[in-house]
Amino acid sequence: MKEMGKYDSRVFQHGTLGQLVPGLFEGTLSVSDLLLHGDFGIGTASGLDGEMILLDHVPYLFQSNGQVRILKGSEKVPFATVHFTQVKDALTVEKMTQAQLGQFILANYPYKNLFFAVKLTGEFEFVKTRAVAKQERPYKTLTQVADEQAVFEANNVSGTLIGYYAPALFHGMAAAGYHLHFLATDHTIGGHLLDFKVANAQVELQPFATVEQHFPDEDQEFLAADIDLSDLHAQIEQAEGQN
Ligand SMILES: [Zn+2]
Repeated sequence: MKEMGKYDSRVFQHGTLGQLVPGLFEGTLSVSDLLLHGDFGIGTASGLDGEMILLDHVPYLFQSNGQVRILKGSEKVPFATVHFTQVKDALTVEKMTQAQLGQFILANYPYKNLFFAVKLTGEFEFVKTRAVAKQERPYKTLTQVADEQAVFEANNVSGTLIGYYAPALFHGMAAAGYHLHFLATDHTIGGHLLDFKVANAQVELQPFATVEQHFPDEDQEFLAADIDLSDLHAQIEQAEGQN
C-alpha cells in the first residue's frame, strides 16, 4: 500500500533509443495504448516520421516539412517516453542558454543519478530544432537519417519545452543527459531541440522513482535483430548529440 504523502512517480518508455540505431523504425505500440501511460512526453512516429511532443494528452507530431499534425490513436510509435504530471519542483528562470539551464538544474537539485522530466513554459529568445523525415524501407541507420534532418530556427518565440534527463548509466536505453523537444504556442516551430536560449520561463521538474521499460515483444523484426553494441554509444551521440 502507498504511504500517504510519499512522493512516488514513474516514467514509461516504449522501445529504446539503442534499437533505433540499426534502423528498427517501425511503429510497435499504438498511440492510444501509449496515452494510457502518460499525458506528457516525447517520441517519434513510425518510420521516424517527425518528432512527437505530447502535451496535455495531445500527441502533436512536428514533421520535417515544418507542419504539425496530431497523431491518430491507431498510429504506432517505435520509441516514446511519457509520464503523468506530478510536479516536484517549480521555479522560474531568465536568460539562460541550454547548457546553463542543464547545469543549473543538476547543480541545484539532487537528480543526477535519476531519470527526471523537465518542462519549460514561456518565452525563448532563440530555438533551433530538427525534425527527421519519414523513412521508407529498407531503413537506413539512425546516423544516416540524422544527416538528412530538416533544421528550423526562430527568435522570440513562446512555447513549451518538454523532455527527460537520463543518467549516463542508462545511455542506450535513452540518450544520456537531456533529450528535449519543443512546440511553439502558435505551432510555427517545433521538434527535437538542438539549441535554445530561454528569455523567461516557468520550469517544472519531476524526478522518477520508477522507470517502466516496455519492449515490442511481439514484433518479429525486433525479436530477430542483432544489435551491434561496438559503436552504439558513439552512434547515439552522433545522431542525438546534445547535452
Ligand atoms: Zn528527440
